[in-house]
Parts: sequence; structure tokens; C-alpha cells
Amino acid sequence: MLLAPELVYIEYDGTLMDRTTYVLGVQAQSLKPAGVTSESMKVHLWGAVAVVTGVYRESGSPTPGFAMARAERASPVTPDPFDAEKFPAVARFHGLRHQPLIYPCPMLLPYPTTSAQVRIIGAGLAGSEAAWQCARRGIQVELLEMRPIRSTAAHQTADFAELVCSNSLKSENENTAPWLLKEEMRRVGSLLLKLARDCAVPAGHALAVDRVAFATKVTEAISSQPQIAIRREEATTIDPCQQITIVASGPLTSEALASEIARLTSLNEPSKGGPPNSDHPPQSPQASYAPQLYFYDSISPIVEADSIDLSRVYMAARYDKGSADYINCPMTREEYLAFYDALLAAHSVEERDWERLNYFESCLPIEEIARRGPDTLRFGPMKPVGLKDPRTGRMPYAVVQLRQENLRADSYNLVGFQNHLKFAEQARVLRMIPGLENARFVRYGQIHRNTYINGPALLRPTLQMKAHPNILFAGQICGVEGYVESIATGLMAGMHAAALVCGNEPVPPPRASAFGSLTHYVAHADAANFQPANITFDLLPPLDKRIRDRKERHRLQCELAIREFDVWLEAATNPGASFDLPEKSAP
Ligand SMILES: Cc1cc2nc3c(=O)[nH]c(=O)nc-3n(C[C@H](O)[C@H](O)[C@H](O)COP(=O)(O)OP(=O)(O)OC[C@H]3O[C@@H](n4cnc5c(N)ncnc54)[C@H](O)[C@@H]3O)c2cc1C
Repeated sequence: MLLAPELVYIEYDGTLMDRTTYVLGVQAQSLKPAGVTSESMKVHLWGAVAVVTGVYRESGSPTPGFAMARAERASPVTPDPFDAEKFPAVARFHGLRHQPLIYPCPMLLPYPTTSAQVRIIGAGLAGSEAAWQCARRGIQVELLEMRPIRSTAAHQTADFAELVCSNSLKSENENTAPWLLKEEMRRVGSLLLKLARDCAVPAGHALAVDRVAFATKVTEAISSQPQIAIRREEATTIDPCQQITIVASGPLTSEALASEIARLTSLNEPSKGGPPNSDHPPQSPQASYAPQLYFYDSISPIVEADSIDLSRVYMAARYDKGSADYINCPMTREEYLAFYDALLAAHSVEERDWERLNYFESCLPIEEIARRGPDTLRFGPMKPVGLKDPRTGRMPYAVVQLRQENLRADSYNLVGFQNHLKFAEQARVLRMIPGLENARFVRYGQIHRNTYINGPALLRPTLQMKAHPNILFAGQICGVEGYVESIATGLMAGMHAAALVCGNEPVPPPRASAFGSLTHYVAHADAANFQPANITFDLLPPLDKRIRDRKERHRLQCELAIREFDVWLEAATNPGASFDLPEKSAP
């Protein structure tokens, strides 16, 4: 039986039913010809119109029986004639190999209660992009954002798409994995990527933005869309029987919504295991749910530009790649060891129970890196290789890099210097860095919660929930890591939600593409050890033939990815062409 659980089944008297009630009802029904079972029953919702598709099979018969594709409206007792022009995808289904099921069926469609076809929770990076992608396809969106009524521990404004830490959207170097993802986003027409490029600040080969200008532009663009109704309120419920919903509430999802997500995921099949450091064990042996995970990301400190002693630092790009936009603070061995000792001795913010968790490996606080050995910082955020000091012609013992924060270039962040030290301790220790002796801090490093679901246990590669395909997750909460990845999954969720509204089955992007690899990872990684991922070549499938040269291998991978992505995109922008019969696209 391929009965999608998210669908609204409608009784003859207009009563709504969930799947189980519907199936039991159909089995007991006298209207249905005897000895016949129903398969692939699906109700596609277009505003006030429902189109029901499905297959009836004679019991024991190996061949499909007759099928139906029937349009319903919100009141008449006799169904209206099927409008093939309005629903080409269903018409195709209808005309291809099936005939309509003929019996009078005054199904009513009390839903939707609002005019919005897609509800999006969170107007951060993912939610804003998702809303835009729906709106540009003519879909009515309700976008819920809780700020400024309720804020998070990291956001400081009421703007949409606020960048809470670094201002970098990663490499623009051709044939790198972050470039590939951005290139695919550009081809689909990502709003946020375009606006990021409009607000770019110099950052060598990286795309860094003026965060204030960027958030302002995103807010303006979204607010001016007539199809998007913005509601400044906290979402606390998600109803799988209501309209299509994209959950894009981010790593700092409000508590009430987090509980709701826990409840929703508890309706799932038992997962093979939650993320390794989950602090939300199942509530009871029966209430087995794929849990959320809370862990902590760290924010890097920012200093005022004119408080940096320029006589002690130099501008350079690593290996002279790109323009020399980074400020480099060089350290001698003695300076490094003194800094290292001070860092280890500095007082951290008091740990509470919930903080005794594993950190995300790629975002470790510097004091945590230092605790792993005296040289670990020199192989991490203080790596000096490729950063020759032009004044000495030599590579320093260690380097702290500073990246421009805004277009005015009046502030710089300490790259990779996220930490969990008390503010006074940070000021004392970080002022030991040459050039920062008199640094004024615009913002200190901090640690914040990160909430994400166990994607492989819960999601399809289309970011739809396996158990509730009307609900999609996007952004950091679906199990990706990073600004660009969050925007990318928002973009995908928006496209897929729009496809659902139009009655098309969402088709994930090809596995060879960056998009396809990212969503494949989210849906198919090891559920027992799931950790959010950035886009890297590791996520992409290997090429058929072995290429030793790394650069050439990456070039070929990018070439293949874009070729396959373009084919998929062509079909996805022509939804009729990608319509799958329901029986092929079952959960
Ligand atoms: C402290 C911190 C620092 C980070 N630093 C970086 C970094 O430097 N570089 C990087 O690439 N990534 C970083 N990340 C990771 C991630 O890329 C960002 O958090 C990114 O903003 C995620 O995008 P998003 O759309 O998933 O969530 P967000 O951009 O956070 O958007 C979620 C939105 O949902 C809203 N919301 C939450 N709950 C509700 C509710 N119940 N109802 C209505 N609205 C709600 C929030 O107010 C917010 O606007 C960091 C994350 C954190 C937490």
C-alpha cells in the first residue's frame, strides 16, 4: 500500500481523516467494488481544489487495475469535469494509462484554512531563500519569524538572514567544493547568493559580505514580495495535516518549537540510534524517537581596525593566492609559547551540565584545540605556512589572521579564534598577540547552542520527512553546517515545496552535483553517528576512472556535477516533465 501519510483524506460527509482511518474505511466500504484494494491514493491540493489520484487493483491480480484521477471542489456533490489544462501533470497521469474511477464522490475540501500554500518557519538564511523560491514560482507563502518579539542567543537584529558570526561565504576559487555549490545555486537563481555578491567586501578568494548591508537587502527583497505574508511570531506547532511546511528555524530554534519537533519526530519509526552526543534520550522505551541534538558552536572575536598596531602586522594571502586582504599577526617561538601558556591558564565561562558535550570538530574553541597539545594551534588557526613576512622574508613561527568584517573596513575578525573564555580573560590573552596589544573588542568570542535533527533517520533526499512528506527541513537544523549550505538547502526545500503544491513529486538533484551530494549526505549518512556537514569533495561520488592529480580530479568532478545538474534543472523547471506516477514515488 502506498498511502502517503501526510495527505488529507476526505470522507463523503466532509470529515477529514488520517491515513489509518481512511484505509480502514476504504477496506470496509461497500461503494468499492468487491475484492479490490486501493493503492497509491493521493490527494493533491491546489488551493480550494483537490485532485485525487490512485490505483485500484483486483485482489490477487498481478496487473494494475483501473486507476483514477479525479478533481474535487469545495462543495458540489458531483465532481466538476476534470480540468486538464489546469493540472497537466495529473492529466498526463490520467491519460497515459489509466481511466477515471467513476462513481459519485462528493468529497469536500475544507482545507486550507489560510490562503498560504506553504508555511515557512524562520526567516534566517534557509527560510528567506525558501520563501523567495516559492514566491518566484507563484506560490503563496506564510513566513513566520519570531524576532524581534523573541530573539536568540546570537542574533542582534530583527533583520532576515542575519549572519551571526563570520562574514565569509567561503571560497570563490573555481573548482573548489564551496565554489561548485555556489555555482549550482547561481544557476538555479539563488536570491541570497546574488545579494551576497552585491554586498561583497574584499577577502581574497573568499566571498565575504558586509553583514548589515546583506541582511538589509534580504529583508527588503522578501518584504516586497506580494506572495509572501510575513508574520512576526514564534511558531510553536507543526501540523502534518495542514499545509506544506518548511522548518528552517536554525541552530537556535526556540524551545517551544524544539519540543514540538521532538514530538513530531517521536511519531517516527524507531531510529537506529541518535546522534552520538544527544542530550535528549527517549522519554520512555515506547516513545522511541529520532532525537534532536544540542551542541555548541563558537563565535570568533572582532576588533576595531584602528586599534590594530599596523607597524607589527603585514597584509598577505596564503601562498599569495588572491589579493593580500588578510592582516597577519606574526609570532616568534617565545611569543607563541607565552600565548599558549596564558591561553591554557585562562578562565573559561562556567560550564553547566548541558555544556559538557562534544564540540563540533570543525568549530572547536581555541582553548580546546590548545589542550590537545602545544603545536595543535600551529597546525590549525595559527598555521604560518604560505604566509611569509615580507619584512623578514621568512615564515613566522605562528600567525593569527584577521579578516575584514564590513565594507567600511573598520572592524576585523580573528579567523578561527572562537573561544569560550570569560570576556576579561579574552581581552587579556588576545592582547598578547603582536599588533593587538591595544585592541578594542567589538565582540568577544562566545559559545552557542546548535540544534539539528538526525537527518538520515528522518529525511528523504528531498528534505521531506519520511513520515510526513508535507513537512520539509532546511538550513542548519536539517543537518548541514555553514551559511552557504543553509542557503542551499533552503533553496532546495523551497523548490520541492513548490513542486508539491503543484502536485508534482519532488525529484532530488543528481548525486554527482554538490546539491545532490549534500542532500544525499543528510538523508543517507550513518544515523548512529550523524554530524552536520559542510560541502566538501568527500561528499561527492568518486569519478569512474582514477585521476591522481588532485586539481584535475576536482576540475573533472565539477565539470560532471554541473553537466548533470543542468539536466536536472531543465526538468525541474518544467515540472510536467518530471512528474512521476505516485506508485513509483512512494515514501
Ligand atoms: C553562534 C553561531 C555561530 C555560527 N557561525 C558560523 C560561521 O561563522 N560560518 C558559518 O558558515 N556558519 C556559522 N554558523 C552555522 C550556520 O551557518 C548559521 O547558524 C546559519 O545562520 C544557519 O542558517 P539557518 O537558516 O539554518 O538558521 P538561522 O539563520 O539562524 O535562521 C533561523 C531563523 O529562525 C528563527 N526562529 C527560531 N525559532 C523560531 C520559531 N519558533 N518561530 C519563528 N522563528 C523562529 C530565528 O529567529 C532565525 O531568524 C553559526 C551558528 C551559530 C549558532
